[in-house]
Amino acid sequence: MENQQSEEKKEEAKETKDVKVIKIGKIVVDRNLCIGAASCIAVAPGVFELDSENKAVVYNPKGADDETILLAAKSCPTLAISVFDEEGNQIYP
Ligand code: SF4
Repeated sequence: MENQQSEEKKEEAKETKDVKVIKIGKIVVDRNLCIGAASCIAVAPGVFELDSENKAVVYNPKGADDETILLAAKSCPTLAISVFDEEGNQIYP
């Protein structure tokens, strides 16, 4: 009985947490801002890669979880990476 209650509480906590979790819909790299520092690639190698001009490009937007993608964007020294949610609202920067 008690166990069941605590399980329910856990479920509630999870739901509340899930509401806060943002869903990334779009990742955009501003090529004019990118200096090829590659921090984004170090954080999320499954998502970003450098192209032949040493600019980061998104080759797989689903190549990491949303938290990692956000961390990658935050790691960019020039704020070249913009992240939008599924409704198109800018999440970062
Ligand atoms: S971290 Fe920023 S500057 Fe560095 S490669 Fe990625 S987008 Fe470009």
